[in-house]
Amino acid sequence: MEKILVLGAGTGGLVAANLLASHGYKVTLIERSDTHLFQPGMLWIAFQGHSPSRYTRPVKDLVRPGVELVKGSVAGIDLGDRLVYLADGRIFTYTTLIIALGAQLDYEAVPGHRELVERYGDFYSGAQAAARMWSHLRELVRGRLVIAAADPLYKCPPAPHKAAFLAAHTLRRMGRLDSVEVHLALPFLHEYPSEVVARIVAPKLEEAGVNVSTLFTVESIDVDKGRIYSLEGEEIDFSLAAVIPVHRGPSVKVEPGEVLDEDGFVKVDRYKLNVEGYDDAYAIGDASNAPTSKTGVTAHLGAEVVVDRIMGLDSRFNGRTNCPIVANGEASFVISSYDYPPVPVKFSRFKRMLEDLFIASYWSSLKYPERWAPIFRAYFNATDPRVISGGW
Ligand SMILES: Cc1cc2nc3c(=O)[nH]c(=O)nc-3n(C[C@H](O)[C@H](O)[C@H](O)COP(=O)(O)OP(=O)(O)OC[C@H]3O[C@@H](n4cnc5c(N)ncnc54)[C@H](O)[C@@H]3O)c2cc1C
Repeated sequence: MEKILVLGAGTGGLVAANLLASHGYKVTLIERSDTHLFQPGMLWIAFQGHSPSRYTRPVKDLVRPGVELVKGSVAGIDLGDRLVYLADGRIFTYTTLIIALGAQLDYEAVPGHRELVERYGDFYSGAQAAARMWSHLRELVRGRLVIAAADPLYKCPPAPHKAAFLAAHTLRRMGRLDSVEVHLALPFLHEYPSEVVARIVAPKLEEAGVNVSTLFTVESIDVDKGRIYSLEGEEIDFSLAAVIPVHRGPSVKVEPGEVLDEDGFVKVDRYKLNVEGYDDAYAIGDASNAPTSKTGVTAHLGAEVVVDRIMGLDSRFNGRTNCPIVANGEASFVISSYDYPPVPVKFSRFKRMLEDLFIASYWSSLKYPERWAPIFRAYFNATDPRVISGGW
């Protein structure tokens, strides 16, 4: 009898488990937290003062019949013997495994980072930390808000840009943009890793009143002095700062260790998403080393591919991204795939409406992915980078 085990009830794990259940499979889903957080919501909590409750739901409410939800922390995976160990000593066996444990945030990699987050919060480590950032932003009357990153690899590549746009918008509304500078310090050569996207984003940042430093990768932070030092030898003073942490693969012991890359991400076949060397184990979303952006969209699309493959279909993941960049009343998307670098996508109010629709559909699309599949498929086909390679 088939025993499907899904590890992690984040975006990818919930889509995979619920989709399998819709096809009649019995699935066990293991998750350590009682609450699911819509991670992009942290931006709205931190920089627009939204309530955290708007972006969190009990995991049990997101799981449908046919999925057995187990509360527990995964400590180890033995791929050879098909065993999963929990921290409390429970052991699970499986015939098929889906690893959807997300990325781990390393606040120790950069000296001073833990202290910075404890003092000011941020928009990566959770809803409460985001609320802490908002309480400081609300009080910031003059000085400099710095948004920076400790490594070029992090989930949602446009997240710091969105943070800067939202913060600048809020400060403008409060009448403080003249006395508070919003400064975006990025570890890239341009305003975005892709030059095509940078050419579209840079004028919008300027229009919003955001100053930008490029080639600035955070090396250390002196919280008492209010200063950030970069690997490239620069420094910048802040009154308030949020630094995106170094990301690593899940904090779980995996046997054999060779299936993990040097940062702990699970090595997969980029198209089939099976763990390298194993046909009965898959890794989706942020936990995998698939060479595409770490986003909810890629986790969702990867989950669909893995479910198809478990059902015997030869679906392949094409690395499609659809990362929204939300600016003042408008949005653009970073659209790419394994075969196509990002295409030029202009900011527009219509795309902002699309993004708001995607956000509104989030909870339902986790629980009932098959209902949303035709709508999402139509969107992804219409905006395939091959179709809109000249721009959208
Ligand atoms: C500020 C911000 C903005 C973002 N904006 C966007 C956006 O606009 N669009 C977009 O598509 N994506 C966005 N993302 C990225 C997106 O949220 C993630 O890429 C997505 O959630 C990844 O899904 P996942 O299933 O791989 O991992 P996650 O959703 O992180 O889920 C992992 C799950 O595993 C659980 N877990 C971890 N370790 C264990 C363990 N040992 N035992 C048991 N359970 C465990 C966790 O509790 C969690 O529930 C954003 C992220 C951030 C931080």
